[in-house]
Amino acid sequence: MKILVVGTGYVGLVTGACFAEMGHKVICLDIDREKIQKLKEGTIPIYEPGLEEIVKRNVAQGRLDFTTDYAYGVSNSLVCFIAVATPSGEDGAADITYVKRAAAQIAEQMDGYKIIVNKSTVPVGSAEAVYTVVYEYLKGKGKTYEFDVVSNPEFLKEGDAVNDFMKPDRIVIGADNPRVSALMEELYAPFNLNHDRILIMDLASAEMTKYAANAMLASRISFMNEIAGMCERLGADVSMVRKGIGSDQRIGYSFLYAGAGYGGSCFPKDVKALQATARSFEYATPLLDAIEAVNKRQKELLGQKIDLYFASQGGVEGKIFAIWGLAFKPGTDDLREAPSLVLIRHLLERGAFVRLYDPVANAKAKQLLKKSPQVIWCKNEFEAAAGADAIALLTEWKQFRFIDFSQILPTMNGRAFFDGRNQYIPSEMAAMGFDYFSIGQLPALAQENILNSR
Ligand code: NAD
Repeated sequence: MKILVVGTGYVGLVTGACFAEMGHKVICLDIDREKIQKLKEGTIPIYEPGLEEIVKRNVAQGRLDFTTDYAYGVSNSLVCFIAVATPSGEDGAADITYVKRAAAQIAEQMDGYKIIVNKSTVPVGSAEAVYTVVYEYLKGKGKTYEFDVVSNPEFLKEGDAVNDFMKPDRIVIGADNPRVSALMEELYAPFNLNHDRILIMDLASAEMTKYAANAMLASRISFMNEIAGMCERLGADVSMVRKGIGSDQRIGYSFLYAGAGYGGSCFPKDVKALQATARSFEYATPLLDAIEAVNKRQKELLGQKIDLYFASQGGVEGKIFAIWGLAFKPGTDDLREAPSLVLIRHLLERGAFVRLYDPVANAKAKQLLKKSPQVIWCKNEFEAAAGADAIALLTEWKQFRFIDFSQILPTMNGRAFFDGRNQYIPSEMAAMGFDYFSIGQLPALAQENILNSR
């Protein structure tokens, strides 16, 4: 089938590339000229494992093309996906301005029947809003083309997006007539060979499914972070508690890691949007409110632990902190709502110096953080730690898992380690000479004999 994907960001580019990989003919469109130019030159604007290879292969084989021209994109496609951003508005509600604008631009170029698919995460009622935009435009121009609007929310995870798209747990399709649901099933047939993953439902349920899924995942993280706070006070170990409850099949192990709080472009925004939707009809959401409140508190936790530790050493002013990991999670260069940014701001406001390193996100982080003598960019975790009073780990990149700390500690000025992702065993870190602070576990302080032997 001939496909147009409007919006060539994390979702749009993966969607376009994966459809092309499955044999469809795809045009990816964006209003960002620089992005499209780079893609045409073979430069992939985001870091996503496996994506570059697929993009290059499908461009070379003539199934994937990039443009900024709606006329070209719409006239050469039957199915038009909208995968543009839906950021939080001031009241937390999802702002669907970009979605409506994309719909209007598609309408302007329509030359026959089209299926317009909302892949962006949009609140219930957005398919109807898109329908109205297109209908009104066509009516105003006296055109009578038929079209359908479909809701097809995306569930991919950044960092594993290609795999998620190629082998989805489910493909949710919200449609209001059998003709278009049959066409959508045909479009997704190559992803559905192993077993049936397609769930056809009404438009409102499909739109709601995406928000409910993200809110459920966010709730598991916030729940575990709240339990972690209690573990710290009671002398329990949240890692053991996770195993203890995860072994119950009704609960399972995933998304139960305590840490520095969830970030990213989706959970914070989507929980807020769901709250705003509920507010619009005066429905109270105490559970959703708590998910957000717990996460906000959690993102501030490492900063508080650091303040407390350095309070007896003259405070954090003038101290040097190595920050390991900036991206909101491993496998991506995305920094939207990343806990690292909360900690970095906290430290900078208090006059500390930060030595920053992320395996892939340094370049994007440089665009976000103002140039300052307090901010030092490093090429690796060893360089970041050199001369530091403390290390704070914010993103659990695999390369941080097995570190030769005997090479690191002697290069540091201090011995504190603040682990926002519970990557190490507290007693081992203390035995090596660190004052080790993690989440939901008791601190482990360097033993006197170790310090004396250093
Ligand atoms: P993004 O910001 O990475 O990309 C959006 C792209 O849309 C940008 O390149 C922008 O230039 C382009 N754009 C904006 N208006 C346009 C227009 N009128 N015409 C053409 N292009 C336009 O966003 P993203 O992370 O890919 O997210 C897109 C949507 O998918 C959001 O609703 C998000 O909530 C949802 N989603 C995201 C993820 C994720 O992990 N990032 C996962 C599932 C769903």
